[in-house]
Amino acid sequence: TVKGDVHDIGKNIVGVVLQCNNYDVIDLGVMVPAQKILETAREEKVDIVGLSGLITPSLDEMVHVAAEMEREGFDIPLLIGGATTSKIHTAVRIEPAYSGPTVHVLDASRGVGVASSLLSDNQHEDYVAKVRAENEDARRRHGAKDSASRAVSLTEARENGVKIHWPDWRPTPPAMPGLHGLDDYPLEELRDRIDWTPFFRTWELIGTYPNILDDGTVGDTARGLLDDAERMLDRIIEEKWLSARGVFGLFPANSDGAETIHIYADDSRTDIASNFHTIRQQIAKRGGQPNFALADFVAPAETGIQDYIGAFAVTAGIGIEEHVARFEAAHDDYNSILLKALADRLAEAFAERLHERVRKEFWGYAADEAYDNEALIKEAYHGIRPAPGYPACPDHTEKEGLFALLDATNAAGIELTESYAMLPTAAVSGYYIAHPASRYFGTGKIAKDQVADYAERKRMDVTTAERWLAPVLGYERS
Ligand code: SAH
Repeated sequence: TVKGDVHDIGKNIVGVVLQCNNYDVIDLGVMVPAQKILETAREEKVDIVGLSGLITPSLDEMVHVAAEMEREGFDIPLLIGGATTSKIHTAVRIEPAYSGPTVHVLDASRGVGVASSLLSDNQHEDYVAKVRAENEDARRRHGAKDSASRAVSLTEARENGVKIHWPDWRPTPPAMPGLHGLDDYPLEELRDRIDWTPFFRTWELIGTYPNILDDGTVGDTARGLLDDAERMLDRIIEEKWLSARGVFGLFPANSDGAETIHIYADDSRTDIASNFHTIRQQIAKRGGQPNFALADFVAPAETGIQDYIGAFAVTAGIGIEEHVARFEAAHDDYNSILLKALADRLAEAFAERLHERVRKEFWGYAADEAYDNEALIKEAYHGIRPAPGYPACPDHTEKEGLFALLDATNAAGIELTESYAMLPTAAVSGYYIAHPASRYFGTGKIAKDQVADYAERKRMDVTTAERWLAPVLGYERS
């Protein structure tokens, strides 16, 4: 897993699958600098280098590793994998930096096929030629698609923002304003809030829970996996393998009428404690659809309405290392991966459960709400909890202000890496927005004018802003 990134479940699955097929795998762990990867590759005379990452800043780090391999004269195949990686990114950004074979591997189950084609004397040449042709084709199609031409200007996009009739909005003042820590949150309460569908996806079993348990093809495997998971959850809870910690805050807030949400230090609304810099969709819309920005869901200061926002950071991964190390020492990859996957599930369940309690008790704007877990997973409730790095607010650097506002490292034991990945990995952080019109969306690609405006708002230079916003730029970076 490349520098700045900490996720390794998918990578570990690839490793296990390759090892089961008699490949020797050297796992360098997480947050690995380029130099360390290259040094090891040289010393151990490896046949293939594989890079993994989950968060978008890792895409740039992978380009850097590729360029370093080129500089140091490597020619062995480079495999690229992980949730935000793609065939397009590999073809457009990574392959041009490296002259050796550069292959995007879509999921763990394909790793063996790719490795065996690359290492086979009689298939190697044809396979590499095929991948190069596919990458070439992906680049051509990417070049032809001029997404910037379908973008409207930032000014036009603002004019077409979400129209909320503010005089009708009566924000509920939080029942418990300010910051609140949650230590050692009961895991059995979180267990009931688990969304199991993504758990199966982690293991590349595709289908919706609970139907997946009766699936003709993967049903048996899914049921076995769920049994193992339930048994491990019993032990996690009884033997206190993990502890859950969190912090949340409820604050006075108003938007600036554009894309910034000001979070005030107190009810006088004079001092700004933090700003949440949101991004506006710039794609040309049809049929009366607005150009969304999260800031549209918070009352502008000029309305004089006393609106509010919440913020949170939760983890269920405190104490995990010791148990992962125990499984790894016993070469028990399966249980090590299972534990990490369950910690992730508990963290998401914590985010869901805390959001519910915020709506019903701590903020209290939906005191009478009563939904079962299925309805919660479908987000039937009013309000959202957008998380920096996700599609509505794709810039991971926004976690810096969020963490400072919450003092999240001290209050919840969650750290940020240089790429703004959270450690422990089983963590979720974001904002709470209460307005019933609020909803998740993806910003899509944005244009140069917004990047310049964003850089100015965040007091960043444009090149830095372009780097963090790379996945949503509708134009080629300079
Ligand atoms: N129930 C799922 C939730 C996964 S999404 C699970 O258990 O895995 C993870 C988090 O991302 C959510 O808790 C929410 O905070 C946030 N989120 C989801 N969609 C988003 C979007 N489009 N933009 C911003 N944040 C989003």
